[in-house]
Amino acid sequence: MTSGDILDTLRSALPDGAIDATDAAVLARSIDASGAAALGVARAVVRPRTTEEVAVVLRAADAAGVPVVPQGALSGLAGAANAVAGALLLDLTGMNRILRIDVDNRVAVVQPGVIVADLAQAAHDVGLFYAPDPASAALATVGGTVATNAGGMRCIKYGVTRDAVRSLELVLADGSIVRTRPDTIKGVAGLDLTALVVGSEGTLAVVTEATLTLLPAPGPSRGVCAVFPSLTAGVAAANAVAAGVHTPSTLELLDAIVLDAVSDYQPDAGIPSGAKSWLLAITDSASGADADLDAFEAIFREHGALSVHRADDPADLDGLLAARRLLFPAMRALRGSSLNGDASVPRSRLLEMVERLGALGDEFGVIVGVGGHVGDGNLHPVVAFDAADAAQVAAAHSAYQRISEIAQELGGTMTGEHGVGIEKLASLDGELPVRLREVQRQIKRIFDPNGILNPGKKY
Ligand SMILES: Cc1cc2nc3c(=O)[nH]c(=O)nc-3n(C[C@H](O)[C@H](O)[C@H](O)COP(=O)(O)OP(=O)(O)OC[C@H]3O[C@@H](n4cnc5c(N)ncnc54)[C@H](O)[C@@H]3O)c2cc1C
Repeated sequence: MTSGDILDTLRSALPDGAIDATDAAVLARSIDASGAAALGVARAVVRPRTTEEVAVVLRAADAAGVPVVPQGALSGLAGAANAVAGALLLDLTGMNRILRIDVDNRVAVVQPGVIVADLAQAAHDVGLFYAPDPASAALATVGGTVATNAGGMRCIKYGVTRDAVRSLELVLADGSIVRTRPDTIKGVAGLDLTALVVGSEGTLAVVTEATLTLLPAPGPSRGVCAVFPSLTAGVAAANAVAAGVHTPSTLELLDAIVLDAVSDYQPDAGIPSGAKSWLLAITDSASGADADLDAFEAIFREHGALSVHRADDPADLDGLLAARRLLFPAMRALRGSSLNGDASVPRSRLLEMVERLGALGDEFGVIVGVGGHVGDGNLHPVVAFDAADAAQVAAAHSAYQRISEIAQELGGTMTGEHGVGIEKLASLDGELPVRLREVQRQIKRIFDPNGILNPGKKY
């Protein structure tokens, strides 16, 4: 089918304005926040408003063998939503209604284009809590976070997006509309297709509605921050907190390279000199928060903290979080460009992981700083380099590739939360045995026999 044919079919079936095939519109929706190159030039942007309209698009695309790339806010960091040659870019941001906040059953039912922070606010307004909290919450859509199984800073206590997904309404590649399970808390009839679709990066189905678990509102967030004279001491303290009975809602680490970068970037960030690692433990316990903070502080002191700062009110805590928020901008500012890793290892391998990452800078002649969600073993090593220097660009990509390999060698994964997309395809062989990849491709073929959904990604 020619480009004109499918677009004519869709124009006659969809409301006016649903299709935009202008170069500007296609270009604007062609790459995500990773900056990775698109896999060709797409055919048009399609903006459905209802599940039925999504079904119309997929039915026509499947019949014509035209690729479809489901898209949320394009805040992804793996190129997963990037354009594919000849594709329809299915922009779901217009399906952005919170359909229901059900206080009795503690669930929210939402369309995929709802922004995560808007959902969190709506839950908060009725005294409930939506736990998934990626740093991109003000940008990212529910559909995108479900499709990438997004993480964030609160995973040590609340888990990842998957843990909040009760059921999904999906449009399959052939246009059929299905719901994965009832919205009950329990339910084991059939296979768990909800879990399979969560994290599938738009390759199995289009999420058109999600029922999400809400929790009772936690207490106010309070925290303890400490700096240590070595990375070893910081990681040991983090592991001791994580192994204790007082579970933090957030446990974040920064290494010495990041601390220096933060001090350069923002001299009033308050990083004490001599600090070789930085830890922040937050509690949001509704009761027992004082005991949590006492326990974190005691552990930090036992591990030789150079200084300890306790934040009892939100403004003070926000000041402590500022250093963590500067991880990416401060590292990027060192040489103008950066590659942001997303490796995850079992907590027992964390020390080895950070030590090996620390050696990468010298090995490749770039700067590698490490920070991230140490509480769940998910680190964001950042490779800083000068994009104008071809040798540095090559070295940075080699170092970035090596980060994935090190995580895999330590029994971990190259991606804890950002996904595979197109950025990490080359490292999949190092992680998934051949037979497992084969099984995954077979599953993909069952969902999408003609291979129209987000081809060239994930597998
Ligand atoms: C500043 C910043 C901070 C970030 N912090 C975090 C973080 O803390 N944790 C984290 O995990 N990620 C983080 N990210 C990455 C990104 O925000 C997440 O991957 C997010 O889940 C992407 O959502 P999106 O709406 O932008 O989706 P997109 O980037 O548009 O798409 C992502 C994937 O989802 C698929 N998709 C989108 N909508 C649907 C749908 N309705 N049905 C089926 N598939 C769909 C796409 O095909 C693609 O594969 C961050 C990004 C930025 C820029």
